[in-house]
Amino acid sequence: MILLDGKSTAAEIRASVRAYVEKEKNKAGRPPCLAVILAGSDPASQTYVRSKEKACADAAIETVSHRLPASISQEKLEDLIAGLNADPSVDGILLQLPLPKGLQAEPCIHAISPEKDVDGLTVVNQGRMTMGLPGLRPCTPAGILALLDRYSIPVCGKKAAVLGRSELVGRSIAILLADKEHNATVTLCHSRTPDIAAICRDSDIIIAALGRPRFVTADMIRPGAVIVDVGINRLENGKLCGDVDFENVAPLASAITPVPGGIGPMTISQLLVNTKTAWMKKFHLS
Ligand code: NAP
Repeated sequence: MILLDGKSTAAEIRASVRAYVEKEKNKAGRPPCLAVILAGSDPASQTYVRSKEKACADAAIETVSHRLPASISQEKLEDLIAGLNADPSVDGILLQLPLPKGLQAEPCIHAISPEKDVDGLTVVNQGRMTMGLPGLRPCTPAGILALLDRYSIPVCGKKAAVLGRSELVGRSIAILLADKEHNATVTLCHSRTPDIAAICRDSDIIIAALGRPRFVTADMIRPGAVIVDVGINRLENGKLCGDVDFENVAPLASAITPVPGGIGPMTISQLLVNTKTAWMKKFHLS
C-alpha cells in the first residue's frame, strides 16, 4: 500500500514555485501578489488563512491581507473585491469561505475577475473547466490530480466514484477526471444516490468529499482500489478525521491519502500554483 503523502508533495511544489518566482521576478518587476480576504473571526478560517499566508511566504509570493469585521456589509465587501480587481499590483484574490452569517458568498465569488480567481470558482472558470478549456481550476481538485500524478497513479480508463457534488470539490473533480486529458469513467454520488457502497465496490478510484466522518468503510472497497480522502472532520475529542475509515480501509487499498497530511496541503499548494499562473499570464512569462 502506498501512502500518498500530500505534505511532502506540497513542500516540493512550494519549492518549485519559489524557484520559478525567484528566477523570473526581475522580468515581471515584482513577485506574484495574492490578496487575502477574511471576514469575521471563525477559528477554522483563521487557521486556514494563516496556513495559506505562510505557504505563500515559503513560495516567495507576497500577500496583502484584508481582515474584516463580521459586521461588514455585502456592498462594502463587493466594493473591496472590485477595488482588488482593478489593482494592477494584485494577481490573485482569495476570499476565505464560509462568510459570516448575513453575507452571501455567491455574489462575492462571481464579482472576482476570472483572471484573479485563484480558487477557480467563478462562472467563467467553472464554465471553462466544464468545456475543457484552459483556466484557473479549483484548488482541491487540482491538488488531487497533482498528487495522483506525483505517484504515477493512472486514471485513464479507470472507474472512479466521486462522493459529494460541491463545486469546490466533488463536482469539479468529477468533471476533471472525465475530461479528455484524464479519461476516467466517473460516477458522481450525492445524498440521493442509492447504494453508494455497491458503486464504490465497482470502482478503481474513490474520491470521498462528503464531510461525513469515516463514511467509507472496508466493506465498500474493492481490494487494490485507490482511495482519496478529502474530508476534514473535527471529532468530539478534538482530533481530525477524514471521510474514510483509514485504519480498516488502508490495508485493502493500493494507495490512500492520510488525514491530515493528504489533500489539505495539496489544496494550499495549488493556490500557490494558481497565483503563479495568474502572475505569469499578466506578465507573459512562460
Ligand atoms: P459540501 O458542500 O457540504 O458537500 C458535501 C457533499 O456530500 C454534498 O454533495 C452532499 O450531497 C454529499 N453528502 C453529504 N452526506 C452524504 C451522504 N450521507 N451520502 C451521500 N452524499 C452525501 O462539502 P464540500 O465543501 O464539498 O466538502 C466536503 C468535505 O471535504 C468536508 O469535510 C470539507 O471540510 C472537506 N474539504 C477539504 C478540503 C481540503 O483541502 N482537504 C477542501 C475543501 C473541502 P447533496 O449535494 O445531495 O447534499
